[in-house]
Amino acid sequence: MKCENKCGQNAVFEFDCGDDFILKLCSECRANLDDGFSEALQFFDYKHLPKDLQKISEPFSKLAIRMIWMFSDSYQREMGLQKLLEAKDCAVRCAIMQRDYSINEELN
Ligand SMILES: [Zn+2]
Repeated sequence: MKCENKCGQNAVFEFDCGDDFILKLCSECRANLDDGFSEALQFFDYKHLPKDLQKISEPFSKLAIRMIWMFSDSYQREMGLQKLLEAKDCAVRCAIMQRDYSINEELN
């Protein structure tokens, strides 16, 4: 499995970007991604969430990785990631509100 960056090295990192696009990178190319990569992605991490919220959050995470990979660092990319993060947070809150609502309904 070769690095997506066409550097000739073997890939050791895989990032699932959805739609059958798996970003595969070697350690060097992973390290060379701009500093924003890890910083941005920590807020899109979803594996720690309960299963139902993981499902809501996961597509946003995949899109964030794809955006970081496809577009070079720019103000528009930063804005896009910020808005995507806000959209993700809103979607998760919607899911929590609906979950609480259905729990309340079950109690009544
Ligand atoms: Zn590479």
